[in-house]
Amino acid sequence: MFGWFLRGAGSRVKTTRYPPEFDSNVGISPGRPIATQFASSQEADNAAVQCPTQAITAHDNMADINVSRCVHCMACSHGEAAMKWQNDYDWATLSGAGASTTTRPFKKSLHIRLVDSGSCDAVIQEIKQLAKPYYNMHKLGFFITPTPRHADVLMVAGPVTSHMRLALKKTYDAMPGPKWVLAVGNCAISGCVFAPSFMAAGTVSSVIPVDVQVPGCPPPPLAILHGLLVLTGRAQEAPPHVTTTIAEVPL
Ligand code: SF4
Repeated sequence: MFGWFLRGAGSRVKTTRYPPEFDSNVGISPGRPIATQFASSQEADNAAVQCPTQAITAHDNMADINVSRCVHCMACSHGEAAMKWQNDYDWATLSGAGASTTTRPFKKSLHIRLVDSGSCDAVIQEIKQLAKPYYNMHKLGFFITPTPRHADVLMVAGPVTSHMRLALKKTYDAMPGPKWVLAVGNCAISGCVFAPSFMAAGTVSSVIPVDVQVPGCPPPPLAILHGLLVLTGRAQEAPPHVTTTIAEVPL
């Protein structure tokens, strides 16, 4: 125990500097592809066919991304038909009611209630990292609360399964206003690969109003932190040149 303490005290600060600095440590998420202009339509077609989830669509010499289908396999990150790459983590966008809200109370501190509405656990694992010393979301004023009565924000991960639909609605209704909803991950936003399942009851926005979307499969911790900062008005949403399509997958 004492040796552990000495090692920790001697290794200085091990907390990410985000938001002033992005993370560059080994093992951190490698970013995501963005819409890319190629020299010819043939190259754009080649970029599209290499995607296993049909997230890339080609028209003329442009290759567009439907980020709600991208699973970050990186197949399109190299080779002759490589897509352009976004290396930062400003992925979150305002949506619905959130986009029209101009004043945001609780700018400095938020309490968050998390609901897993049927996820595969990938997004939940990323969210868990936020409370650990490395990402340390508490330093930014964000705290997880176990009760919706104390929550300002409802963070939802996963497609909404039939069994979780009512629980999600009840949790939202139990929160006092003003309140916001953060849909985290492609499944929460679009249903993604689970959308066609007979157990998927719809997207989060089909059950409760969503204010901020954080796309990704799963989104890395810094992208989720960006979503919280956008929600509190302390960061800008993803700039238009990387805000490619966020489309619902047809059920
Ligand atoms: S990284 Fe995303 S867009 Fe690129 S090939 Fe993989 S799933 Fe498709």
